[in-house]
Amino acid sequence: MSKKTRQVRVGNVLVGGGAPVAVQSMTTTYTRDVKSTVAQIKRLEEVGCEIVRVAVPEMEDAVVLGEIKKQISIPLVADIHYNPNLALEAIRQGIDKVRINPGNLLNGRESLEQIVRAAKERDIAMRIGVNSGSIDALDKQAQMQRIQVRLREDGTLERSDPAEARRLERERLAERMVTKALEYISWCEELDYHNIIVSLKSSTVLTAVEAYRRFSERSDYPIHLGITEAGTLVTGAVKSSVGLGLLLADGIGDTMRVSLSAEPEEEIPVAYEILKSLELRNRGVTFVSCPSCGRVEIDVISVANEVEKRLSKVQTPIHVAVMGCVVNGPGESRDADVGLAGGKGKGVIFRKGQVIKTVPEDQFLDAVLKEVASLLPEGEAK
Ligand code: SF4
Repeated sequence: MSKKTRQVRVGNVLVGGGAPVAVQSMTTTYTRDVKSTVAQIKRLEEVGCEIVRVAVPEMEDAVVLGEIKKQISIPLVADIHYNPNLALEAIRQGIDKVRINPGNLLNGRESLEQIVRAAKERDIAMRIGVNSGSIDALDKQAQMQRIQVRLREDGTLERSDPAEARRLERERLAERMVTKALEYISWCEELDYHNIIVSLKSSTVLTAVEAYRRFSERSDYPIHLGITEAGTLVTGAVKSSVGLGLLLADGIGDTMRVSLSAEPEEEIPVAYEILKSLELRNRGVTFVSCPSCGRVEIDVISVANEVEKRLSKVQTPIHVAVMGCVVNGPGESRDADVGLAGGKGKGVIFRKGQVIKTVPEDQFLDAVLKEVASLLPEGEAK
């Protein structure tokens, strides 16, 4: 059961307040290159991205946002650091949400207030993004010194092991992030602005988890989940699954981004797999395939990968199984909407629990895709 948060509207997508956890991503193109940026956003839309963020490092990037927005159909978020004028221009251009880290804005509170006034006037949302990396280094150092003094005084330092010391450090950093976020929120609230979404990102999974949990206990603003700089496809997918999975399983999180050093289109299926595993979203193919083993009788790895790839744009929820032999094959295939259970050089195709036919290995792919198409609404079956 998800924790009830306030609801904030980002363009035509509702975030929080019981709405489905929205999946988002960020483009990797130079935003000023409108053609490439729009093309990438369209690819993201196709695979199920529901909110897209673009970097706005210079005014050249800010002034094209209206042009980009006209050509896409999902809400557009401008990611701004340092320069409040970029945020003001982005808002003028008609974006749906602005993402800032008040901690690195020139002129801090004064700039935040300018941005809040502009966002309020246009009735758009704002994400306050606190990153562990941007908590002031001196601040961190001073804090660590205070912690060490205290731990020495009560004898904890001598008794504690390195893991315990790391845990304490994590907790203090998480607390600092939450305190900062709550402070920024209070500045917004003083201007009667509440369209706020909050993120507390860290590249260390357990720090992020600790910060999000603490924040969730003390605030009902909707939460944007993410593990920042999570890594390449496998590393990032695992870190995000563990971190975001722990939080989502506790009902924490209203929108999410899986950050990967990969094409942004690859972030979306990872996000949906996390959400589907926790039964929080039901979209597209839920795929079951066996890892194959010494009993395998067909090339299950190739067939499974190809089937998954060919069905990556399907939006209708459907269960598909590709299994290598008779040990678990018929059971899993019967439970799926469409299943393939391999045998010696041939395979049995199931649809909705019924055996449809037996096909030779060179027809596996076509047979599975045909049965899936027969269960999809018109227009989606390709
Ligand atoms: Fe091995 Fe058969 Fe199980 Fe696949 S279904 S892992 S081939 S025993």
